[in-house]
Amino acid sequence: MYKQFGISEELENLANEAEENLKDEFAKIDLACTKNSLKVLQAFQKHRIAEVHFGQTTGYGYDDIGRDTIEKVFADVLGAEDSLVRTQFISGTHAITVALFACLRPGDTMLSICGKPYDTLDSIIGIQENPSSLKAYKINYEQIDLVDNDFDIPAIVERVSKKDIKLIEIQRSRGYALRHSLSVEKMEKVIQEIRKVNQEVIIMVDNCYGEFVQEKEPTEIGADIMVGSLIKNLGGGLAPNGAYIAGRKDLVGLAAERLTSPGQGKEVGPTLGINKSILQGLYMAPHVVSSSLKTAIFTSYLLEKLGYQVQPRFNEKRADIVQTIEFGNEEKLIKYCQGIQSGSAIDSNSVPMPWDMPGYTDKVIMAAGAFTMGSSIELSCDAPIRSPYVAFQQGGLTYEYGKLGVLKAIQNIL
Ligand SMILES: *Cc1c(COP(=O)(O)O)cnc(C)c1O
Repeated sequence: MYKQFGISEELENLANEAEENLKDEFAKIDLACTKNSLKVLQAFQKHRIAEVHFGQTTGYGYDDIGRDTIEKVFADVLGAEDSLVRTQFISGTHAITVALFACLRPGDTMLSICGKPYDTLDSIIGIQENPSSLKAYKINYEQIDLVDNDFDIPAIVERVSKKDIKLIEIQRSRGYALRHSLSVEKMEKVIQEIRKVNQEVIIMVDNCYGEFVQEKEPTEIGADIMVGSLIKNLGGGLAPNGAYIAGRKDLVGLAAERLTSPGQGKEVGPTLGINKSILQGLYMAPHVVSSSLKTAIFTSYLLEKLGYQVQPRFNEKRADIVQTIEFGNEEKLIKYCQGIQSGSAIDSNSVPMPWDMPGYTDKVIMAAGAFTMGSSIELSCDAPIRSPYVAFQQGGLTYEYGKLGVLKAIQNIL
């Protein structure tokens, strides 16, 4: 049948060879998936999830038992005191905005300890001038770059021992940078070092693309607050939109008062019928993340075989679901993304083109033939159009569909 999809016999043979050589890597992923699945099931059972939690509220959304219980389940799964899981969050970027504005006050300083954060934070922080940025509210920004893909612990310790930093931001995934993702172990080490000299600073983790890749989450190893999108890992491909903030109860409370309004906080927010999708998405998420990881590793193996620079390599440790492929050439990059699109179930006949997306500085191409618009836990591939022309691929609701999409993309560049 691959032939009917335009995949050559040669490429099919290469794919078979890849799978043969990836068995050990796939087994490691299965183990993490099992552990994370049991964590999820335990939380569902502890909170006695039942059909009543699938109900909906409208209007103000007072006393939404489904929403309130979902937030307890998420908190337990993430090892956090509390969480805010809301459809009113437009995206991960929105939830990060809410978390930052909730924690910071005029005169405060935030410090990124892994270099420049994700592109959409430029306007939030004020790196890109914006009248609504943190900078416009007199909140300062500093950053310390990574050294050899790891935290610069001496520089960080020296800076935070002065105690004038209010919040530290750590970004687990690489975003559109060419650095590696940061493992939970690396984060745990830097947090321990920070705590030796400063107990007050708020440590926030942008956990986008990181959930369930490893067996622990940042809030289990000392992060105070953590943010992620529900159209990425934790939504399991079923959540129609939304994002979460999890962590210390006081900070989640502040975030709730920023998302809704002071005095109302977590008490309002209609769920409009999405509770079941959120719960079922979380239930599926460990497996969906494992399918994404297998798709990424398969991609990494094949493209390296074909002579491209890939990161991570197929057998390297991963802390997120993102796979990068360096094409060094705009045309090949675009062809690859268009191939991914042509392998999807939805919008397979659309041809993605680079465009000026709101919130991004360079033109961006985004291939995402997704059930949920823009969902990147579904097989998707995007890239800012800038040298060295690197594709950022992630997702795959099932490995089988992910594999087909990747083969279509490879065939398109061959
Ligand atoms: C996806 C992502 C975000 C948030 O992006 P949205 O598209 O707004 O959900 C933030 N940080 C990182 C590292 C991301 O990957």
